[in-house]
Amino acid sequence: MTGLILLAVIAALGWKLRAPAGLVWGMLALLWGAFVLVHGLFPGPGHPLPALIGGSLPGWIGLGVVAALVQAYRWALARLRARAVVPEAPAEGPFSKAELGRYSRHLLLREIGGTGQRRLKSARVLVVGAGGLGSPALLYLSAAGVGTLGVIDHDTVSNSNLQRQVLYRDDDIGKPKVFAAAAALTALNPFITVKPYHRRLTEDIAADLIAEYDLVLDGCDDFDTRQLVNRACVTAGKPLISAAISQWEGQISLYHPASGGPCLACLFPKAPAPGLAPTCAEGGVMAALPGILGTMTAAEAIKEITGAGTSLRGKLQLIDALYGENRTIEVKRDPACPVCGG
Ligand SMILES: [Zn+2]
Repeated sequence: MTGLILLAVIAALGWKLRAPAGLVWGMLALLWGAFVLVHGLFPGPGHPLPALIGGSLPGWIGLGVVAALVQAYRWALARLRARAVVPEAPAEGPFSKAELGRYSRHLLLREIGGTGQRRLKSARVLVVGAGGLGSPALLYLSAAGVGTLGVIDHDTVSNSNLQRQVLYRDDDIGKPKVFAAAAALTALNPFITVKPYHRRLTEDIAADLIAEYDLVLDGCDDFDTRQLVNRACVTAGKPLISAAISQWEGQISLYHPASGGPCLACLFPKAPAPGLAPTCAEGGVMAALPGILGTMTAAEAIKEITGAGTSLRGKLQLIDALYGENRTIEVKRDPACPVCGG
């Protein structure tokens, strides 16, 4: 039995001291070889050395064979695993090797994979408003590999924006938001194209601009621009993902009458009464709230582009961050809607 105990002590010591597995196995193999040699040189009972080690020659050889089989099995399993985890994918379609590595966690998702990632790369998304909601939406869409990101905003970065508009840095104060945004987004992902439009979205350019994009994200904070974006999207037949926030609460939906859902005006035909939905500048806003809702618009955009899961079409999701409550209500198209009805 002494031989077995000696082997066990070496294995335990190796494990405890975190010695390299190769070293421990090497020492065990050396000792095992010595035991087999002793048993082979001094067969039969009576000799003190084999008696001290214990066991028999066939016993020790059997143990060696079992250990070798276990090691061979572990080695084969490790090779199979390594092959499964690191796919030896060649540059696929429009993607460089660096892009394949960058998007590997998307490629692993059954719902996105190579097809979905190609759709993201060829997608053109317009983000209206590069503020609190636009910041995380743009960051995630850039990171996710949306090939062309348009961003329209007339504003410049101000000190009070930095509490929640995570796209900007202190150095950006005074710069036009869209140019600071373009720099940050291409620094994050050099494989995408960002098109900055430093101006207010107005009636005369809305139709032409939206016609250039597949999908529109609206994160602006005034009712009139929201309605303008909605009208232009309905006319162009483009889906609109729109979120709105106030203080601690937010809402988000996907509006697309062309595929059966309501439009924004079906739900909100009239501007809210004064004071009922204060803007961030009027009523304040909790820093992380636009992060939550803006990130949700990015997630809905990724789903809409790749066709993954079920969208918020026909559903309005309401987030109450102050009390940690979320609700989703069904919303329907209004046949009398002045924008999409009739
Ligand atoms: Zn409508």
